[in-house]
Amino acid sequence: LPDRSSITNHVVVFSGGMDSFTLLHSVLRQEVTIPLDNIYALSFNYGQRHKRELSAAKIVCDRHGVSQHFISLAFLNDLSPISALTSDTPVPHGHYAAPSMKQTVVPGRNTIMLAAALAFAEGLDPDRPGIIYYGAHSGDHDIYPDCRPAYIEAMQAVVYTATEGRVILRAPFMDMTKGDILKHGLNIGLLAENYRNTWTCYAGGAVSCGKCGSCTERLLAFDEAGMIDPLEYQDRDSYKAQAKDDPTA
Ligand SMILES: [Zn+2]
Repeated sequence: LPDRSSITNHVVVFSGGMDSFTLLHSVLRQEVTIPLDNIYALSFNYGQRHKRELSAAKIVCDRHGVSQHFISLAFLNDLSPISALTSDTPVPHGHYAAPSMKQTVVPGRNTIMLAAALAFAEGLDPDRPGIIYYGAHSGDHDIYPDCRPAYIEAMQAVVYTATEGRVILRAPFMDMTKGDILKHGLNIGLLAENYRNTWTCYAGGAVSCGKCGSCTERLLAFDEAGMIDPLEYQDRDSYKAQAKDDPTA
């Protein structure tokens, strides 16, 4: 029998968005060295209005035979009843780096998600090492302090310390834009069409709005890669005007 401790468990924080979709496929593409049985997708339900993300995530896991675990973070609503992602507050339009996007912050969400991922990875098997993959990227740095490199490095130290190094946290997209992530996905063999099974819009409609910060960033990423986003949009063109309002440009 192989030494159990030589087999690593790979836990992907998988929201069903483009970034974690690309990340999951990066891990799957290493399949020669990682048995599918040792890959886990963790999807968090915190009452987000863009539930389409979670159904997209399920389709992808079913298709690839990846073991998917849904973790309820419903208590986030008790902690922060006013966040635009979970309440009836309108989702702001405009560039994803605009101050109005601060309304889309769910307080503490990333820390709680990573703590849950740590618990999951540690609990899988006490004899096996684990790697947590997290798709944070540079496009979120301006708005969300808990997406910045200093935060990720601190959480890497937390994960390492809490498990005596048995579990580690990787955030390979840390310095990449959404456009870079899409290009990486295309480089590892994904097609633009495959991104039909991802969801990015925050507005919670039947089709993507094309106007919220997330849609704007996504459409710009496809532009940057010279590709057409396969998703259907309510308004596919207004992002071009939104992008001009970029307060960070
Ligand atoms: Zn949208």
